Amino acid sequence: MNILITAGPTREHLDPMRFLSNCSTGKMGFAIAQAASERGHTVTLIAGPVSLATPSGVTRIDVVSAQDMLAAVQQALPHQNALIMSAAVADFRPAHQAATKLKKSEMDPVLHLEPNPDILKTIFSLKGTRIFVGFAAETGDPTAEAQRKLVSKGLDMIVANDVTAEGAGFAVDTNRVTFITANEQPRALPLQSKFAVGHAIIDWIEAHQ
Ligand code: C5P
Repeated sequence: MNILITAGPTREHLDPMRFLSNCSTGKMGFAIAQAASERGHTVTLIAGPVSLATPSGVTRIDVVSAQDMLAAVQQALPHQNALIMSAAVADFRPAHQAATKLKKSEMDPVLHLEPNPDILKTIFSLKGTRIFVGFAAETGDPTAEAQRKLVSKGLDMIVANDVTAEGAGFAVDTNRVTFITANEQPRALPLQSKFAVGHAIIDWIEAHQ
């Protein structure tokens, strides 16, 4: 299969020096990309700003903002059989982005924001028979919120995790996730490496293609 994976945070610049972002390190998405590539799939990885090496055999496209990531996903999607959106896309961006560094004296202490596009919702009309997998990183029990996102974003599966749980979340090499789908019982996986979680996601996609 051709599999498209997004990973990492996005950065939303106020000016060339300053930005809004989040705690994502990209480890989960890169682990999925490595697992998918080792299984013989053709993998395209769209990565926000992260400091990780590209897994061998993977084609990597670097992006900065949510709008860049949307454009890269739209361009790559026609050739794909599956999309895994593990990126932590910033929900908002500064309403104004300066081309040169803002002086402190020019800056408004109130930050004016506007919403970013939801990538999954924007591309839903292009889904066709492709499998779409999303992530729901929540603080606390993620199940109810993940189920809501599964439906609202038109996903085949959502990988839910409590980012505050021991051994899960950002910057660690392990994760404890639950697979939530429309027609199957939620499946809670044990705490395991992000690489093993990546293999489990690829198993699910192969079984449902
Ligand atoms: O941020 P949220 O919890 O809504 O993310 C759920 C899923 O939606 C994730 O797979 C994420 O990559 C995706 N997403 C998106 N576009 C956004 C925000 C999130 O596609 N603007």
